[in-house]
Amino acid sequence: MKSHYRVVVIGGGVVGASVLYHLAKFGWPDVALVERSVLTAGSSWHAAGGVHALNADPNMAALQAYTIDLLSEIERESGQPIGLHMTGGITVASAPARWEWLQSAYRIFQTIGIEDCHLMTPAEIKKACPVIDIEGVIGGLWADREGYVDTTGTVQAYAKCARLRGAEVIEHNRVLELHRKGDAWQVVTEQGTITAEHVVNAAGLWAKRVGRMVGVDLPVSPMEHHYLLTENIPEIAALDRELPLVVDLEGFTYMRQDLKGMLVGIYEIQHKHWMMDGAPWDYGIELLQEDIDRIGDELALSFKRYPCLQTAGIRKWVNGAFTFSPDGNPLVGPVPGVPGFWSACAVMAGFLQGGGVGKTLAEWMIHGEPEADAWPMDIARYGDFAANKEYIKQTTGQFYSRRFVMTYPNEQLWAGRPLKMAPAYEAMTAAGARWGCSWGLEVPLYFAPRDFVETPSLKRSEAHDIVAAECRAVRDAVGLLDISGFSRYEVSGPNAERWLDRLMAGRLPKPGRARLAPMLAPSGKLKGDLTLFNWGDGSWWIMGSYYLRQWHMRWFNDHLADGVTVRDISDSIVGFSLSGPKSRALLERVTDADVSNAAFPFLACRPLDIGLIRARVGRLSVVGELGYELNCPTAAHNKLRQTLLEAGKDLGVREYGYNALLSLRLEKSFGIWSAEFRQQYTPRMTGLDRWIDWQKADFIGRAVALAERNGKGPERVLATLEVDALDADASGYEPVWSEGRRVGYVTSGGYGHRLGKSLAMALIEPRLAVPGTELRVHVVGVERGARVIRPSPYDPAGKAMRA
Ligand SMILES: Cc1cc2nc3c(=O)[nH]c(=O)nc-3n(C[C@H](O)[C@H](O)[C@H](O)COP(=O)(O)OP(=O)(O)OC[C@H]3O[C@@H](n4cnc5c(N)ncnc54)[C@H](O)[C@@H]3O)c2cc1C
Repeated sequence: MKSHYRVVVIGGGVVGASVLYHLAKFGWPDVALVERSVLTAGSSWHAAGGVHALNADPNMAALQAYTIDLLSEIERESGQPIGLHMTGGITVASAPARWEWLQSAYRIFQTIGIEDCHLMTPAEIKKACPVIDIEGVIGGLWADREGYVDTTGTVQAYAKCARLRGAEVIEHNRVLELHRKGDAWQVVTEQGTITAEHVVNAAGLWAKRVGRMVGVDLPVSPMEHHYLLTENIPEIAALDRELPLVVDLEGFTYMRQDLKGMLVGIYEIQHKHWMMDGAPWDYGIELLQEDIDRIGDELALSFKRYPCLQTAGIRKWVNGAFTFSPDGNPLVGPVPGVPGFWSACAVMAGFLQGGGVGKTLAEWMIHGEPEADAWPMDIARYGDFAANKEYIKQTTGQFYSRRFVMTYPNEQLWAGRPLKMAPAYEAMTAAGARWGCSWGLEVPLYFAPRDFVETPSLKRSEAHDIVAAECRAVRDAVGLLDISGFSRYEVSGPNAERWLDRLMAGRLPKPGRARLAPMLAPSGKLKGDLTLFNWGDGSWWIMGSYYLRQWHMRWFNDHLADGVTVRDISDSIVGFSLSGPKSRALLERVTDADVSNAAFPFLACRPLDIGLIRARVGRLSVVGELGYELNCPTAAHNKLRQTLLEAGKDLGVREYGYNALLSLRLEKSFGIWSAEFRQQYTPRMTGLDRWIDWQKADFIGRAVALAERNGKGPERVLATLEVDALDADASGYEPVWSEGRRVGYVTSGGYGHRLGKSLAMALIEPRLAVPGTELRVHVVGVERGARVIRPSPYDPAGKAMRA
């Protein structure tokens, strides 16, 4: 062991070993992995070793596909056998909605490049897996890239490959303390103190404890998990080939062959947390006591699905713990507020995700950002609120129990909710608000009568007509929207303007003006689609998506300069927006100020007195109508709502929610973050280049963005499509076809109620992005006609917004 390494990775499970391997492979060989016991001594040794290509989240599926492809590479490179059995796998559906989902998912996997899968009939399933009882099975999805590995061999293979590239593995050496001294970490271990520029927390079951060494409470908890191994089963022993892996979603189990018997793993409906503060330091390579009563129902289902289990002897029960974050995805990336401290934990499926996690983190550390969009696993998708123990308990428990339960896009899950509520929450609830959740905050989706019930569905739901009425109110009169679910950052200080000018790629707004502000990473890829307000008094606001608060603050703080203060004021400032042709008439009734078009034009912003409230108002509208955003102190939220509703009664003011907002913005072809705008997209692909100020001498990402501008152009560009949909609309990631060839994919879709059309935005080959081009799109697994239409199909000239 040396006294200095560039990076110390804490933890020798599959994730730590993969991080070490990728760091060494990508050019940082001066790295050491420090392991408390021996490699695999955490969750890794007793994992079932199953690898599945498919995941409901397309980003995670891509990560898994990378990991699976990597497995044979590390086996070859290390010479260490990893027991790779690439048997192929089947995901089985035995509920109509699940079958619909599988058909839809099949198409989405095509979009992300997982081509080696196909749908199966029950008879085909039976043929591929003779021990399954197909009663009730409607269909399945086959994937070539599924199977299982020997877990210990795999961890050793990662470590050996890393060693071959110069990395070190130091076993029997617990990290005791971490101290930040100057620009480096002092890593105090049992074998002495190491100085390191970077520390990676890959401590698996102990990740919580290692986080606390630097004052961070990670939103992660270990939970128990069972699988059983049978004795030899004659039906299996008689086969001349190996069984495929089978995931029986409605049965809550996964199954693979083990020797001449079976391994059956259970996602337990009655979940159980284990050592929420992290495993004890002296926890050895040991199993937990099995609790068969707790998993009795799922076991009964598995005995029906695989009748040979009924007579098979159980060779061994495995009950082990592994870790979960609130949404089940890993926690990866630079930990906000702790320089040089990186997270690679909460990886609930290390053998199928660990490769991708290692790659992502190593790229991030070496190049400043990962190649692919890491948002779904970025640790910054959570804030302080998620460190609460009860929150972690409820959300991780919900995820675990629902691991194989279908969640519909219009379904609300209630763990950890309601947590944060704007002051007008109760009043809006009384008015019929139905709530969604953004970063712990309740946000209104739509307003419905008390007895209204929305059925979870992949297709249009009963809420369709309600949202239609809200959209019409915005188009014809005036709509009121709670905009507490926007984030707000205040930038001030003598160097605020200069700092913003470098941070944002666009021209800064003049005093009293607001402007759309694209923000780029040094790679020239997108980092934000923000709105910038210059209040004219030396203070600026940046507004964006609420759920990106921690993520944006990390970026701002990482790039902070002297003489600049950035404060996240989203908790202290909330508000409402008014949109629609009668919004000015309403505003005039509650303020003395001149808000005529001449005095308060489109994109102006200024303080205004609204009734009793001192508000800050911007004249802009996400929905493409005449509109205003009224920001007020949190304590005045209720009063602002009452004031506006009372004043607007005879103007037909109507409250609306974010479902309507999403429909309205789609009709304007206004992109949103996580759909049209993502970290791996570029300005020219997305059309954000038209907001870039190319005259500016410098801004982050300028050189690369300029090269893109002058280059041959992107392979895909954003286009707006009209879809011949019947009872369902596109939602995102559906493949787009031209003459039988995949030419792009949907970024978001929905129904445009002002136009009466099903719409989608899609990234497609530029030559096809011409109005009138006929295309095909899969919507919930069914191929539909579609055509490219002009962007902003509603009010293309933008007259309403400027009225
Ligand atoms: C029963 C069961 C079945 C599973 N089946 C599958 C499956 O089929 N497929 C799949 O992909 N995943 C499966 N998993 C999940 C998988 O085991 C985990 O995702 C994976 O092991 C996590 O790896 P890790 O490296 O993050 O953590 P761990 O394996 O827990 O490794 C963390 C390491 O950090 C070390 N460490 C901790 N603190 C310190 C310290 N202070 N100093 C030094 N070292 C420290 C520990 O000793 C340990 O070795 C299963 C898990 C269980 C329990």
